[in-house]
Amino acid sequence: RRLPATLARSFQSAIQSVTVQDSPHALLQRVFGHAGFRGQQQAIVEHLADGGDALVLMPTGGGKSLCYQVPALMRRGTAVVVSPLISLMQDQVATLLQLGVRAAYLSSSLEAHEARAIESQLLDGRLDLIYMAPERLVTPRALDLLARVDISLFAIDEAHCVSQWGHDFRADYLGLSVLAEQFPQVPRLALTATADLRTRADIVRLLKLEAAEVFISSFDRPNLFYRMLPRLNALEQLTDFIKREHAGDAGIVYCLSRAKTEKVAEALRARGFPALAYHAGLPAAEREANQTRFLREEGVIVVATIAFGMGIDKSNVRFVAHLDLPKSVEAYYQETGRAGRDGLPSTVCLFYGLQDVIKHQQMLSQSEGSEEHKRHERRRIDAMLQLCETTDCRRQLLLRYFDEHMAQPCGYCDTCAEPVATWDATEPARLALSAVYRTGQRYGVEYVVEVLTGKRSERVGDNRHDQLALFGQGSDTSLKTWRSIFRQLLAKGLLLVDPDGYGTLRLSPDCRALLKGEVALTLRRDRDTLTAQRSARGGSRAAASVASADQPLWLALRAKRRELAEAQGVPPYVIFHDSTLLAMIEHMPLSLREMRQIGGIGDSKLERYGDDFLAVIRDHVDGASGAGA
Ligand code: ADP
Ligand code: ZN
Repeated sequence: RRLPATLARSFQSAIQSVTVQDSPHALLQRVFGHAGFRGQQQAIVEHLADGGDALVLMPTGGGKSLCYQVPALMRRGTAVVVSPLISLMQDQVATLLQLGVRAAYLSSSLEAHEARAIESQLLDGRLDLIYMAPERLVTPRALDLLARVDISLFAIDEAHCVSQWGHDFRADYLGLSVLAEQFPQVPRLALTATADLRTRADIVRLLKLEAAEVFISSFDRPNLFYRMLPRLNALEQLTDFIKREHAGDAGIVYCLSRAKTEKVAEALRARGFPALAYHAGLPAAEREANQTRFLREEGVIVVATIAFGMGIDKSNVRFVAHLDLPKSVEAYYQETGRAGRDGLPSTVCLFYGLQDVIKHQQMLSQSEGSEEHKRHERRRIDAMLQLCETTDCRRQLLLRYFDEHMAQPCGYCDTCAEPVATWDATEPARLALSAVYRTGQRYGVEYVVEVLTGKRSERVGDNRHDQLALFGQGSDTSLKTWRSIFRQLLAKGLLLVDPDGYGTLRLSPDCRALLKGEVALTLRRDRDTLTAQRSARGGSRAAASVASADQPLWLALRAKRRELAEAQGVPPYVIFHDSTLLAMIEHMPLSLREMRQIGGIGDSKLERYGDDFLAVIRDHVDGASGAGA
């Protein structure tokens, strides 16, 4: 469905250098400055350019936007992109404008006259892409408007929002089935980073994409280093982690409660980190200010509840830390997915502890609903606990959860980098189970450990549990080890927690074989410091951080980027990604022609910023040779 050459010519002046005859490759290089397509991008682009429908499942950072932006420039008319959040739309439009692409968004945040101006651009065919919120798109007024416009394609971003199954359900997405009915000839593309099979089926059914070709990418995020540590002193561990691995980097720290986010943010500030809290209970103005600082400044840390994240397109989030256990592997995958969208090495670090396990077991035993629902909930939590407690490759396990098979251990997670030591815990575990049983299955971990270690507390005396044969039999095992044993017994489902809210322990039917001495039990030996080094990372991956000799240039390039971004009121990564700055350091371009070879620098950005950044590099080179002379 490409334009005939005659028509195409009249379109040529439409946008700086793009013509409808451009091949996908030429467009990719000229407009976006990328050398080649990644993964399935090219197949998707060609399928859409030919007028086909598609469902694209690709992880965060996989490069979904290009899948519709390139065909949008190849096909005649305006592409309509449905996006659930204003911040996402703004970010995308700002990025496209930098590339010289004619893009705009229509949202309720615009003044009436602004919206009218954009509508008339749309009617005049002066837009390559228009972003719209779903609730706006499905109004009769908007549908009327679109009926009068030449539409090249519909892209439905975050398409999993149509499913009630996930946690991002948005009722407005259901209305999008109208697109299939009213614009049957326009190709439609749905995109999501959610891998779940049920969600996928919902998208196809509810968005009427039965005829769509499905493009599934691997859900692996090869640039994320996975780390999970038993929590001892969360704050110490967190600051140690940031100092050692991510000093000066932007990151997100997730906590379960609002109060905790504020406490942790304050503690981090007291230790000299630029940390801000974010949760739904903050006044809107403060919340927005904190989010803006995170997006616009370099190296800000946001300590947040899970209210923060959706719509955060910041590409250079270098770490995501969890101070509490996420409720499912899906949630964990989604939250950690916000790190390293630009493909550069990033770390995700989870701190979990006995209390998390108790809390989750408790929630489970209190949960209402059908047996099937409970079984399902249990599976979700068990999978998350398994991921924490595994002694095997975390990435293999994570991908298996999404039905993906990875043949070899990844070499880029903590358990691969430093294999976990295990120990035969059969005897202490039996002792622990016996202690729960002998004390009547009426106490929590703390009390049972008092009995095991022979602590003559008042409670123990009152209950005459110091008379038990096993009283004090575990005194040569440290408190820390006992807690680790109980945590793992709970995680393995050998112990259960009562729904009473006091963390009362109970034996599970599954522990009989162990108690009777029929099976042995191997547990992981906890490692609570950051001993596992990331140096075991595969050779193909880019340097995690800038070599110290290059620091001055790195800082100078970042400062220039920040200055240009501030002048235009856009986030720095809209000017250039970190990866582009790093490529400048690596290749040291000294002319515009050399600069054009750098990934992420297309014609438009070369013209806008080429000279500015060349000047920074030349200054640096002059300075360095001056110093050497
Ligand atoms: P997603 O929406 O899937 O999370 P994006 O579309 O935001 O991913 O792309 C993630 C990052 O990858 C962006 O920084 C983008 O510029 C970069 N990118 C995407 N495709 C390519 C490519 N073919 N070559 C180089 N960089 C790419
Ligand atoms: Zn691994």
